[in-house]
Amino acid sequence: MPAPRLRSRSLRKLYRKVPGGRTAIHFKRRKPKAPHCSNCGAVLKGIPRELPYKMRSMAKTKKRPERPFGGSLCSRCMRLEMIKRARQ
Ligand SMILES: [Zn+2]
Repeated sequence: MPAPRLRSRSLRKLYRKVPGGRTAIHFKRRKPKAPHCSNCGAVLKGIPRELPYKMRSMAKTKKRPERPFGGSLCSRCMRLEMIKRARQ
């Protein structure tokens, strides 16, 4: 039986083969949900799905696409938004 602090459903169970040959259960935090487009709700690409402590050590350029509205709008919605703003 694992320690009480590890019996939580918020932790993910990983079955890992250890050098001794047996399979040990490792407990890890679950990854957060993938970010979505604020306009259409599609899953945003080019954004790593990582835990906050890993995101903090990552370069800003690796955390979102480098274009206008990168990280908040998908590329299609960004294009439509740019056209809308140019036509006003
Ligand atoms: Zn979108």
